[in-house]
Amino acid sequence: MKVLSQRVKNINESPLTEWDAMVKNMGPNVIRLNAGQPDFNIPSVIAEAIEKTVRTEGNNFYTPVGGTEEIRKAISLFQKEVFHMDYDPEEIILTNGAKEGLFISLGVLVDHGDEVIIVAPHWSTYSEAVIFFGGNPVVVNADKNFHLDVAEIKKAITSKTKAIIINTPNNPTGVVYTEDELRKLAEIVTSNDLYVIADEVYATIIYNTNHFSIASIPEMKRRTILINGFSKNLALTGYRIGYLSSSVEIIDAVLKIKSNSTGNTNSLIQAALSESISEHLPELKNSFKYMNEEFQKRRDLLCAGLLELGIEYYYPEGAFYVFARIPESFSLRSKEFSEYLLNKAKVALSPGIFFGENYDEYVRISFSSSEENIKKAINRISKIFDTREMP
Ligand code: PLP
Repeated sequence: MKVLSQRVKNINESPLTEWDAMVKNMGPNVIRLNAGQPDFNIPSVIAEAIEKTVRTEGNNFYTPVGGTEEIRKAISLFQKEVFHMDYDPEEIILTNGAKEGLFISLGVLVDHGDEVIIVAPHWSTYSEAVIFFGGNPVVVNADKNFHLDVAEIKKAITSKTKAIIINTPNNPTGVVYTEDELRKLAEIVTSNDLYVIADEVYATIIYNTNHFSIASIPEMKRRTILINGFSKNLALTGYRIGYLSSSVEIIDAVLKIKSNSTGNTNSLIQAALSESISEHLPELKNSFKYMNEEFQKRRDLLCAGLLELGIEYYYPEGAFYVFARIPESFSLRSKEFSEYLLNKAKVALSPGIFFGENYDEYVRISFSSSEENIKKAINRISKIFDTREMP
């Protein structure tokens, strides 16, 4: 047999999805604080719109590749109402989740040998997608508070640098970048003629602070590919619905790839979501509020539990993860520590090494699971810590 492409040999399966599949295989006794998905039901307005959409004739057909006119208009309105951002419908394209938006963005920007700066700790897909398209990921660590280290980013720029990927609110740290640091980053992006891929998929999941998008800086709009979606904020992970906003030039380039690969996103969810946004935006905003209140309770419960266990962590201002330091008394790397907790306590976390080689002393704990699960997990971990049954 002839060998598979070098391109595919160069990349790895997402360690997070691989780990999650292994955890799920261990059965229902495991408390899964590794997963990056909210456990809420979908908002009732969306559920009702989906039911109606299924029964409406004509919704079973292909839609325009970039999404129907209605959904692009609805997302334009959504961006304005929720994020105070101005994007015309033709500056928006629908994607199969934020993941497709990221992947295609890199396909649009990266030529062989181009460098893309990625701020670590980071979601693993960023580096794999850069490599897939023949580019070189250049990882720059965040500062000690997990914020942007703009001076280090500046040092990493070379003549081959094409883009910088940032993610705020951040997975895995829960950090929300400030307007000030993003303005500083914007200065070096414009002076070096770069693009930014801004992954803002957690933008509505934010606690007592404000989300600022680098794309809202006027000169940055055409330099930014803004990635967003509805997986996290409306608990629609399985429906695969995201969107990308940028200049018409970028949107046309995305369309070239999409029209030859995935085609349109699912027609039913497009129709249901455009109806829900156009006619029920206040209810959707209430859903964000409800989910955020719940997440906040879960965050506080988890953080209080970690404090009692003597585990250090960064107090998250957004998203639904706590990035916690493995206690020194366990001289284990993050995967070993996670396997230890999985086997002994039946609690699943995500090893920090999945987010960059410098983060092997950390684990990511998701609080997208119920309060009951969080309490149980802390209890189980506490018992393991008490018995001091060190591996
Ligand atoms: N970006 C980040 C930072 C994520 O954490 C995730 C999912 O975990 C995604 C993008 C992908 O989201 P979607 O389900 O919309 O593809």
